[in-house]
Amino acid sequence: MLHLRWLGRVRYRDALALQEALHRRPGTDHLLLLEHEPVYTLGVRADPAHLLRPPADVGAELVTVRRGGDVTFHGPGQLVGYPILDVAGKRGGGMADTAVYVAGVAQLLIDALADLGLPGCTYDPAYPGVWAPPRSDGPVDAVARKLAAIGVRLSRGRSMHGFALNVTDEPLPFFAHIVPCGLTDRTVTSLAREGVEVSMREVVDAVARRAAERWGGADATLDRADVVWRPKADGSDLTPFSRGEGAGTPVRLVGRLAAAGVTDGLAVTERKPAWLRPKVRHVGEVLEVRKLLRGLDLVTVCEEAGCPNLSECWADGTATFMINGEQCTRACGFCLVDTSKPRPLDPDEPRRVGDAVARLGLRFAVVTSVARDDLPDGGAAAFAETIRAVRAAVPGCSVEVLIPDCKGDPEALATIFDARPDVLNHNIETVARLQRAARPSASYARSLGVLGAAKGAGLVTKSSIIVGMGETDDEVVQTLRDLAAIGVDIVTVGQYLRPTSHHLPVARWVEPAAFERFKEAGETMGIAHVEASPLTRSSYHARQASAAAGAAGTAASGALPAGAAAAAVPVAAPGRRSG
Ligand code: SF4
Repeated sequence: MLHLRWLGRVRYRDALALQEALHRRPGTDHLLLLEHEPVYTLGVRADPAHLLRPPADVGAELVTVRRGGDVTFHGPGQLVGYPILDVAGKRGGGMADTAVYVAGVAQLLIDALADLGLPGCTYDPAYPGVWAPPRSDGPVDAVARKLAAIGVRLSRGRSMHGFALNVTDEPLPFFAHIVPCGLTDRTVTSLAREGVEVSMREVVDAVARRAAERWGGADATLDRADVVWRPKADGSDLTPFSRGEGAGTPVRLVGRLAAAGVTDGLAVTERKPAWLRPKVRHVGEVLEVRKLLRGLDLVTVCEEAGCPNLSECWADGTATFMINGEQCTRACGFCLVDTSKPRPLDPDEPRRVGDAVARLGLRFAVVTSVARDDLPDGGAAAFAETIRAVRAAVPGCSVEVLIPDCKGDPEALATIFDARPDVLNHNIETVARLQRAARPSASYARSLGVLGAAKGAGLVTKSSIIVGMGETDDEVVQTLRDLAAIGVDIVTVGQYLRPTSHHLPVARWVEPAAFERFKEAGETMGIAHVEASPLTRSSYHARQASAAAGAAGTAASGALPAGAAAAAVPVAAPGRRSG
C-alpha cells in the first residue's frame, strides 16, 4: 500500500522534517506531494557559483540539503514529490539501486505527462530529470528543455527527496537566477510552456494513479488524503472574524469549511447526547487549588477550557499549566482563545509554576501555552525554563509539555527538546482535509514534522485529534496512521464541543463505540497508547498514558489530599486547546 498525502503549500524545512521522520521508520511506503514556498536548494555536489543572485533578493529561502545534484528551485506552480520508500534489497543497494530507482521515478513522470497530454518526454541518465519532447512545430530545438528535476538520496535502503515538476510558468522566472542543476547548455520549461494547460490537482491525480501502479503493491493500493487546496489568491475567504470583528457573521469559517466539503453542522442549540453530559462535581479541594493558583497568578487550561475532567485530573495529581500569557497569535476555529495583542512574557512565571507543582504535591505536571508567533523563538525558552523550574522544585516530577509548532523553527524546537521533557505533546488537532478550516495558521506537514523531530531527538511523543468537526472515521484512521508512521507514542482522541456560535459548528456527535475503534486501530498500527473517549482532552489521564507508553509516567502519583470527592456544576463547553 502506498500512503499518498497532498500537503498543499509547505515550507521546505517543514517538509524536510517530515521526510526525515518517515525515513527513520522503514516498513511503510509514503509519497508526499506538495508545493513549496519559494526556496533554492543546494545539493551535495552544488557549485555556489551557480547561484547568480542572492535568493533573498527574489523573496526565496536558501537551504543546503543532502541529496544528489546541484542547485535547483522550488516554488508555487511546481509539483514536488517525495517518495519515502523501502527500495533496498532489490539489487543489493548502492549506485546500481539508485540508478534503477531514479529511472523508475522518471518513468512514472513520463507516463503521467503522457496521460496529461504531453507524450514523448524522455529521461537521460547522464542528465537526471525529465525532458520535454523535441518540438515538431517550428525550428529544431537547439536547447533541451527540462520539465522535471530529480534529486534523491537512498540510505539504509530507504529513499528521500524526489522530483520537482514545473506545472505552470510561475516558477520559471526564478530559474533565471541560477544555473539550474549546473547545466549551462540546457533550459527549463513547464507543462504550460509546452502548451498543456492543466490544474495542479489534475497533475496530482495523474501522478497519484501512476504512483499507485508503481509503488502500491500487487493491487496498486493507494491510501490518499489531501489537505484542502490552495486558498483564493485574493484571500477573500479569510476575514479577521475571530478577532471579534464581524461578530455574529461567521463568514470566514463557513467559506473554509465549504472548501473542505463540510456544508452543514448541528445547530448551536442542539442538545448534547447523554455521554457528553456527565455530572461534574468540584470538591472543596478543587476550589482550594484554584485559590492557590490565583495566589500564584497562574492559569490552567483545565479552568480556561471549562474542562469536564478537571476534578478527576486534579484529584489524580495532574494539572495543565498555561504559560506565556493568554493571548494567542492565532485563531483556530475550535478554540476559545483571546486573540488580542499578547503581553510580554513574565520571566518569573517558570519559578511560580515550579512552586505551584511543589505546593500541590503534583508528580506529573503538564505545561502548555498559546501560540506566540510574535516571539522570535515562539516562547520555546520559557518552556525549557519551566521544565527546569518544575524539576528543581520537585525532583523526579514528570513533565509533559504541550507545545505550539514554533513555526517549525528547528532551533526553537531544539531549545525545548534539549530540556528533555518526559513527554513532548503537539496537537495535530484534525484530519488533513480540515486543517485549513480548523487551524489556518498551522499546517499538517509542519505538525507532523515537529512530532517527527521530537521523536528523532529521542523523546516520547504525543498528539491529539478532535473529532466531530466534519471528518469521517476513515480520515481519523488515516491521521492515526500518519502519527504512527512518525513514531508517535501516545494519541488522545476526543469529541469537539463548540465554544461559541462564532466557532466551527459541531458536525456530528461521535458515538462512544467509534472511540473504541480509533483506540484499537491506533494501537494496532503501533501507537503505544491511545486515550480515546468523547470527553478525552489532550492532557486527560496524561500520567497514566505516559506510563502506558513506558515514559516517566510511572512516577508515583502525587494526588491531591485524601477525600477529593465531586461537587455538581453543569459542564461548561470546553473551548481552549492551547498550543
Ligand atoms: S488551539 Fe492553540 S494555537 Fe490555536 S487558537 Fe487555540 S491556543 Fe491558539
